[in-house]
Amino acid sequence: MQAIESEQQEHTQEILKHFIGDIRGDHPGPTVIAVAGIHGNEPTGVEAIEDVISQLESLKEFIHGRFIGLRGNNTALEKNVRFIDEDMNRLWVTSILDKIRRTSFEDLSSTERIELKELLCILDPIVYSDEEVIYIDLHTFSGTGCMFTITPKESRHIDLLSQLKIPMVFGIEHTLIGTSMEYVEDAGHVGFAFESGTHGTVMAENNAVAGLMTLMVNAGLIPANKLDQFATYYAYLMEKVEGFPHKIDFVYKHVIEDGDEFVMNPGFSNFDPVEKGDWLATDKHGKIESQTDGYILMPLYQQQGYDGFFIVRDSE
Ligand SMILES: [Zn+2]
Repeated sequence: MQAIESEQQEHTQEILKHFIGDIRGDHPGPTVIAVAGIHGNEPTGVEAIEDVISQLESLKEFIHGRFIGLRGNNTALEKNVRFIDEDMNRLWVTSILDKIRRTSFEDLSSTERIELKELLCILDPIVYSDEEVIYIDLHTFSGTGCMFTITPKESRHIDLLSQLKIPMVFGIEHTLIGTSMEYVEDAGHVGFAFESGTHGTVMAENNAVAGLMTLMVNAGLIPANKLDQFATYYAYLMEKVEGFPHKIDFVYKHVIEDGDEFVMNPGFSNFDPVEKGDWLATDKHGKIESQTDGYILMPLYQQQGYDGFFIVRDSE
């Protein structure tokens, strides 16, 4: 244990660089943790959290609980790339986390494992305490279309998120092995991913701010009447999600393999309806047609990534 502590001390600067802010309210309540930039080409979430922190600073006397905003992959954020050596959003598997904890910083095999170990120095003591934790993993996407959340189909998640009216996609988390949400869920907390909009857009930032602030009111962190902009945020969200499905089940994912030369057909946005047989993308083996009816989600319009597109359907 002492060895770990001295190792942490040597890395204090790097560990602290992950903090965007840490607001402790004057009253007891849940701990809300928002992490952004686990993918380094998604700095929009970081900017949204900076905005949220600056608003919460002046509300401390009314806040019940704590809000922690963290940067995920600092090295990749500096270079504006999804990752340096490996996808940091696929490493949060119990056995890999255990290996990362047992390995010294110097002996870790990738930039992302070093970044992850730094984050664990902050997260482990909170996630494995008795505190009630709500965890949000902020992302943006390469395509266009409506924001959405990725969440387990459990009543405590649905109760918290349904008030936001943002489309909730259930089941994708089972197809994305090793996300940070999995780590928080395994420890018994509520965790979800918030895909707030297109990479680098003002709308993705505004969506993330409105979503986070509304969530904190719903979670009891901020009394609605103490947040001047609450009605504005709520109306904004309602307008943005108008006409989109509310609860959606994952149906299908197109997996890209190395060398496939996958190219998504242009023009697809989140929740565009597709029918079985529709031509969606092309790779070196030919046309990729939809295998089922549903809505398209997260069509891939960037170089890095192995998820070509998802198909989802209204949840029963
Ligand atoms: Zn991402």
